[in-house]
Amino acid sequence: MNKPAELNTGTTIPLWIDGKAHPATSSRSAGVTNPATGKVTRQVPLANAHDIDAAVTSAQRAFPAWRDTPPLRRARILMRYRELLDAHRDELARLVTDEHGKTLADAAGSVQRGIEVVEFAMGIPHLLKGEMSEDVGTGVDTHSMRQPLGVCTGITPFNFPVMVPLWMYPVAIACGNTFVLKPSEKVPSASMRMAELFKEAGLPDGVFNVVHGDKEAVDALLHHPLVKAVSFVGSTPIAKYIYETCAKEGKRVQALGGAKNHAVVLADADLDFAADGLIGAAYGSAGERCMAISAVVAVEEVADQLVAKLKTAAGKLKIGAGNDKAADMGPLISRVHRDKVSGYVDQGVAQGAKLVLDGRGLKVPGHEDGFFIGATLFDHVQPDMTIYKDEIFGPVLIVLRVKSLDEAIALINANPYANGTAVFTRSGGAARRFEREIEVGMVGINVPIPVPIAYFSFGGWRNSLFGDQHVHGPEGVRFYTRGKVVTTRWPDDKAIASGFNMPTLG
Ligand code: NAD
Repeated sequence: MNKPAELNTGTTIPLWIDGKAHPATSSRSAGVTNPATGKVTRQVPLANAHDIDAAVTSAQRAFPAWRDTPPLRRARILMRYRELLDAHRDELARLVTDEHGKTLADAAGSVQRGIEVVEFAMGIPHLLKGEMSEDVGTGVDTHSMRQPLGVCTGITPFNFPVMVPLWMYPVAIACGNTFVLKPSEKVPSASMRMAELFKEAGLPDGVFNVVHGDKEAVDALLHHPLVKAVSFVGSTPIAKYIYETCAKEGKRVQALGGAKNHAVVLADADLDFAADGLIGAAYGSAGERCMAISAVVAVEEVADQLVAKLKTAAGKLKIGAGNDKAADMGPLISRVHRDKVSGYVDQGVAQGAKLVLDGRGLKVPGHEDGFFIGATLFDHVQPDMTIYKDEIFGPVLIVLRVKSLDEAIALINANPYANGTAVFTRSGGAARRFEREIEVGMVGINVPIPVPIAYFSFGGWRNSLFGDQHVHGPEGVRFYTRGKVVTTRWPDDKAIASGFNMPTLG
């Protein structure tokens, strides 16, 4: 398979509209940077309303024929797409590492989790089955069906250039919708490659489109009258803005926001097992995961021991470019973000937390201009400190100490974010209580990053998700379809009395 021409030759990435590369009319663009080197590698256009209209119009044109394509045929295209994504998984992982910075092994894992959503969507004939009740009244039957919405759109963050788009469009398209994806302008290349592969799998032109851009492009999508549904994943303030704007526009919306994920470590936990899990969960992908554990809530009896174990393990982490096979953790996405994370560490120190391990000022030999910061660990953090209240989105793990499981649950339930959480314990009773009483969307029992598998749905509560339906899995299918209920009576030779009262069928 040849490399895509536009990724090989051009320095400006095009849009993908109507099944082909499409130049943007907008004169605005942004640089795409390799975070390990600090160098700009490509330019990405920042689409204007005209460009967005071209993509949405193409998707709208493709909609009737795609809606009328039997789900089984749609599924067969997804099966071929699944094979192509699998065959190109290394290439996709490389694009993720080049533009995001995470290690190749981590990038490959995220590609795999994305492919699993395509595997889920391949079951669409079964997933779209409705319900049927015979004889709801004499000679009367009722059945329900779910139908696609039209043009759907997805707006995605920088931290999962392959996986988060794949949470959305395979499900939407399997349901019979057409789609316009607006990936993060910081990581645009993987989406283009995924669009080319979808065409190669046999997807009709216009069913899947990719536009690039910033607020201007997003606003044009949110206000476009032909866009029926918006899936968003990103930071909480933008998620809230997307949700409110879509509500005003009368569009269906699911807007996933930021996170502060707590892991509770109880006194009966296996501390080596817990520390090992927490290190990967806190520092994997340099903490730039919405399901990263950023706050450990340790009961007093084991806190000293746990912090000592975390310090030893975090101190051994190797930080390097994502394509360095020995690296555990790569750089952050941008210089601005690295400096912001470093600033949070300054604030933690100034507000009186105990800095156990300091990653500030790290230089990686050969990558002096990369956006690196080392693993950082704080102990004795208080809930009113900025490093607890804000989502840092970097390799900064904080430890808070509590007296009991009750106190841990109350702390977590009072936090405005509620994406994921975990408890480490050997007690089934404590785990059961935690699972039932914790007010968070995704919960792990001795599992630090409880990201639901593709055939369940992913989503947080409170400020981590605005809207009702979570992404992919059964809730994804519900989000991308709307219900219709049909009541049927076939007249026979019995007289049918017309009536003026509320009909009762029995
Ligand atoms: P972001 O909110 O800055 O950007 C997300 C998307 O919104 C991008 O496509 C971007 O172009 C667009 N955007 C940015 N500013 C906008 C504006 N003013 N108006 C309209 N659109 C705008 O997020 P990010 O920095 O790319 O990603 C990191 C954030 O995403 C973190 O907060 C992380 O927790 C969150 N995240 C959440 C989940 C989840 O499932 N809840 C998953 C991944 C990432």
